[in-house]
Amino acid sequence: MTGEGRESGRVAPCCPRCGSDGVPLVYGLPGPAAREAARAGRIALGGCRVSTDPARWTCVRRHRWPEPDLRRWEAALDAAMSAEDR
Ligand SMILES: [Zn+2]
Repeated sequence: MTGEGRESGRVAPCCPRCGSDGVPLVYGLPGPAAREAARAGRIALGGCRVSTDPARWTCVRRHRWPEPDLRRWEAALDAAMSAEDR
């Protein structure tokens, strides 16, 4: 009844096409924290144009896919933005 199999720190899904780790895809003008996270590869910048059904994840091979549960995406984005490089 205890272990729910929840992996800590692994909120991002894998790419459905190649299996690489997904990173949150962020639209709009990035702030300093978002720029830093993007430089470190923790998020990806999708540009200012937002389509009606934007993809929310991307991978190292630039596949993009949507996210039906935006809370998961927001959680991954939050983790990526608050992570620190050492
Ligand atoms: Zn991929």
